[in-house]
Amino acid sequence: MRSIFEQPISSIEELRKEWAPCTKCVFSSLWKNTGPCLPLGNSTNKEVLVVGQWPGEKDMQNGVPFSGPQGRVCTKMLCDAGFDAGKLLLTNVLLCACPMIPNKEILTNCAKQIDDTIDITRPKIIVALGKYAATRFGIRKSMSLVHGKLAIYRNHKVVPCIHPAAIARAGSPTDKADTERKVMNDLTTALRIYEGNRD
Ligand code: SF4
Repeated sequence: MRSIFEQPISSIEELRKEWAPCTKCVFSSLWKNTGPCLPLGNSTNKEVLVVGQWPGEKDMQNGVPFSGPQGRVCTKMLCDAGFDAGKLLLTNVLLCACPMIPNKEILTNCAKQIDDTIDITRPKIIVALGKYAATRFGIRKSMSLVHGKLAIYRNHKVVPCIHPAAIARAGSPTDKADTERKVMNDLTTALRIYEGNRD
């Protein structure tokens, strides 16, 4: 871990060096063969920071966030809403797959990497997918009350969105269609705010 006297992290490459490997919580031994699943590439032109909850098993194996089946659904819905895939930086509240409901200690241990990622990318919008992502940005009310509504975190615009995984969990076809409509409404709201915030 860096000392407080060191320069702040300024690139995805530095972020990767800082967080992989990581031994801050119980998941370090669980995923010792893969390590944390950090964003790839560089931050150039990444204007939209998409923060999910935690990687899936496939993401961990691939070492690429949002590369598994659920992540691909999320990315497709973001693009269907109108986001340019090339502008997205995809990451998660936790960098390791989480086989349980994460407790406060686990979430706290992994918290700083999100602030580092914000500092690196300086995004024009943060799309927070699901309850745990919203909570990470200080949004503590029920998702049913806050989804699709603008919030501010450290001077950055954040839109909490219903997680696309909720569509698969919805029961009847009517519920699925209703949830999908809500997810798309949230994402298009985020797009509208992002487009209004561009230079
Ligand atoms: S979940 Fe976060 S804090 Fe825990 S081992 Fe993975 S990278 Fe480290």
